[in-house]
Amino acid sequence: MGKVIAISNQKGGVGKTTTSINLASGLAHVGKKVLLIDFDSQGNATQGLNASQNNSQATIHSVLMEGVPIQQAIVPKMNPRIDIVPANINLAGADLDMDKMEAGKEELLKKAIAPIRDQYDYIIIDCPPSLGLLNTNALTAADSILIPVQCEYYALEGVTQLLITIRLVQRTSNRNLKIEGILLTMFDIRTRLSVEVSQDVRQTFGKLVYQNSIPRNVKLSEAPSRGMSIFEYDPKSTGAKAYAGLTEEVLKRNSKEA
Ligand code: ADP
Ligand code: MG
Repeated sequence: MGKVIAISNQKGGVGKTTTSINLASGLAHVGKKVLLIDFDSQGNATQGLNASQNNSQATIHSVLMEGVPIQQAIVPKMNPRIDIVPANINLAGADLDMDKMEAGKEELLKKAIAPIRDQYDYIIIDCPPSLGLLNTNALTAADSILIPVQCEYYALEGVTQLLITIRLVQRTSNRNLKIEGILLTMFDIRTRLSVEVSQDVRQTFGKLVYQNSIPRNVKLSEAPSRGMSIFEYDPKSTGAKAYAGLTEEVLKRNSKEA
């Protein structure tokens, strides 16, 4: 059964999509079978991997709200081979539409991916920047949550809020939800703030925090405009090295559990 990892933080711009794309790609590069589900109506992961297609392409919205089988929504990407379930602006209303549903509204994604879980080693969910029903669906479908934390003021407050949500999900719709890890992003060794926030987060969360932090690296922000992960766009960049290191850590943690 594939391991399902939700990349989640209710804050926008902390590196969720960048991490989703590059962790998915890093895992694919070492031969893992990976499905990336874009779960944000901004569709950044979809665009960043050039998986946006014509208007008739099924998206995660068609899967959740129109009952389209997930297999029909998968867009294959070559080099490295990743399957992508795209998202677009259609998903923007899904939180509200789901809320009107009677039972099982937290479990739509979990049910949707059940038939294909064993076809993948890893299923990565790029979550939206909110704590609404979409995020609850992701955390209900997931085995674990990977939390990107940007090295800036209020980083810890944001994580504390997220931990409350995680506990709520653990008490209600997914009691097996684990924390996969906490990832420091946009780290800039030259700024005191980055160093301080990083120390704070490491002190508070200990071993949950990955040893590799992701540096601020312009190559990471350029790669999506070419439809590439950092490993295709600039494999020698500091960003590529950091995400390769993260990939190794994720693999190592999971081999210990298995
Ligand atoms: P989120 O999905 O949490 O909103 P993104 O991954 O889209 O965050 O990142 C927000 C912006 O910051 C994007 O423009 C992205 O290209 C850029 N970015 C993310 N991580 C880095 C990094 N390590 N170095 C430089 N730019 C980054
Ligand atoms: Mg995003």
